[in-house]
Amino acid sequence: MKVGVLGGGQLGRMMALAGVPLGQEFVFLDPAEDACAGVVGDLICAPYDDEAALAQLADAVDIVTYDFENVPVASARSLSDSLPVFPRYQALEVSQDRLREKTFFSDAGIPCALFASVDSYDDLVSAADEMGYPCVLKTRRMGYDGKGQRIIQDRQQVDQAWSDLGGQALILEAFVRFKRELSIIAARSTRGETVFYPLTENRHKDGILITSFAPANAGLLVERARAYAIKVLDNLDYCGVLTIEFFDVDDGLVANEMAPRVHNSGHWTIDGAVTSQFENHLRAIMGWPLGSTDPVGASAMLNWIGAMPDPSNALSYPNAHWHDYGKKPRAGRKVGHVTINAENILALQAELGKFALALGEQLKESGVEAFTRGH
Ligand code: AMP
Repeated sequence: MKVGVLGGGQLGRMMALAGVPLGQEFVFLDPAEDACAGVVGDLICAPYDDEAALAQLADAVDIVTYDFENVPVASARSLSDSLPVFPRYQALEVSQDRLREKTFFSDAGIPCALFASVDSYDDLVSAADEMGYPCVLKTRRMGYDGKGQRIIQDRQQVDQAWSDLGGQALILEAFVRFKRELSIIAARSTRGETVFYPLTENRHKDGILITSFAPANAGLLVERARAYAIKVLDNLDYCGVLTIEFFDVDDGLVANEMAPRVHNSGHWTIDGAVTSQFENHLRAIMGWPLGSTDPVGASAMLNWIGAMPDPSNALSYPNAHWHDYGKKPRAGRKVGHVTINAENILALQAELGKFALALGEQLKESGVEAFTRGH
């Protein structure tokens, strides 16, 4: 079975690392010559809307999926004329546009922040005055890892936010005062089997995920998150892994965004669950039975942002699962992660303390310190 993947980043790379033992081979389409999935499959290096490249991909593979939700919908749709493409392109349409996404959530009865479409300066002023401050101005498209958004604290900051982001389609959201951020990862197979991973607690810095912790201590919120995920899966006739990110507020969960793909907040499942999100995504799109999503103890996943730490320090702690994506260092770029497991939450705290000692000076950039303090 040959799997085609639109996007050849670390998610595609980890997908192939899960799929090769299942007997699968991978072909990636990515505009970057040094796309990091290229070492685990064939790489077609071309823009996502290059018709000849899409035809080459369609000829080479049996099924297509994505590691990136911002690929052109038209490319996914044209591929789906000749072979199975999962998740269906309709899921891309919803998740590529924050306004459509929020409208979709509220139509499905999933709570989300108050929002308003902003196409002009006047729209912004009236929406912000009506919504109140602080509020968050975001680009409707191509925003990820905190890119393309500004928090507006008061009326005086409106002009600056407009001069930073104006001139493109925007959405204004009420600022949600959340206790913490949680995500759910679900998988639904083409046969309709559905499984859920435990909720994951996520911490962000400058809009970028830095640490995930699973299973989150979430009580009744687990059932609520599952019910919301089922609404999304049903409404989109969804196949594959789906992620929804939530804010935990006093009276429940508020959906922030969804990703029609495997997700950074599920990286812990590689080393900390019976079946990883990557393997279950592949099983789901193939129509194979899904694997157990049970966690193996408790896990913490720490992202390496910008550059990898020196492994000789960090790996002097023997229980680290080390993942280096082979990407060139660049500020704000996710270049790798590490997962630490332990039998339970208390043991995990102790393990994280030992890992922090091994990491030494590099600790400050890693987010480990904040993580151990917070638990
Ligand atoms: P996003 O690109 O929408 O995932 O936002 C990145 C991060 O910014 C989120 O994980 C939150 O930490 C923060 N954020 C985004 N939207 C809001 C909001 N409406 N209220 C409060 N914080 C937000």
